[in-house]
Amino acid sequence: DPVIELTGARKTYRSGDIEFEALRGIDFGIQAGEYAAIMGPSGSGKSTLMNALGCLDTLTSGSYRLDGVDVEELRDDELAVIRNQKIGFVFQQFHLLPELTAWQNVALPLMYGRVPLAERRERAAVALTKVGLGDRLDNRPGELSGGQQQRVAVARALVTEPTMLLADEPTGNLDTTSTEEVLALFDELHAAGRTIVLITHEQEVGARAERIVWVRDGVIDRDEATRR
Ligand code: ADP
Ligand code: ADP
Repeated sequence: DPVIELTGARKTYRSGDIEFEALRGIDFGIQAGEYAAIMGPSGSGKSTLMNALGCLDTLTSGSYRLDGVDVEELRDDELAVIRNQKIGFVFQQFHLLPELTAWQNVALPLMYGRVPLAERRERAAVALTKVGLGDRLDNRPGELSGGQQQRVAVARALVTEPTMLLADEPTGNLDTTSTEEVLALFDELHAAGRTIVLITHEQEVGARAERIVWVRDGVIDRDEATRR
């Protein structure tokens, strides 16, 4: 089943009299269980596309169906609900709260659903165990390596069991060892059937996905299977 169906997606930025068309008619789909990378040079429209896919911004025209829901038809409050239910975000900066422990950071998204404390802790522990940090539940971010912090962020993204993981330059802030740690985790999640969309400008990182969608000047330039 398609998780993402983007049809004729356009995005125009306006400031005063000046208009800039950052997305100029994008069509593509991503199936459940797929691991796709979106790549392209700086200024090609990756962030704009990521914001649309993540329901962080709406399109100027075209349609976006996320897990069967017509996103462009939704009001802002409905959009927020869909975003929280269906998407687990991972960013370049880990965005962990430094004064909270690993499990408390991971449990944060569960605050929305009024899940009882004991259950929040248990679900956070399960998510942290899945990313290989079952022995780091009570550590604060400052006590963890960059790779470990990003794995905590992945656990936080997955604790609500979203439809897809949307990772924007997740290795942009990491050294080689930590990058490998995070990419190995993505391999595992993919093998377990997770849908992963990875935005990156690093060729070696994108090549770890099973498919690369290349964006250039707001259109899809190439859409290819990787050899892996
Ligand atoms: P990328 O992530 O690939 O670097 P972006 O999606 O950030 O590309 O930007 C695509 C193009 O749209 C760039 O030319 C950028 O300058 C322009 N752009 C992005 N955001 C805005 C904005 N808020 N207002 C005007 N132009 C923008
Ligand atoms: P990235 O590094 O992810 O490609 P950018 O540095 O291109 O991001 O953009 C950072 C922020 O500035 C984004 O929110 C983008 O929408 C905005 N932006 C980019 N280009 C412009 C522009 N020409 N005018 C206004 N805002 C812009």
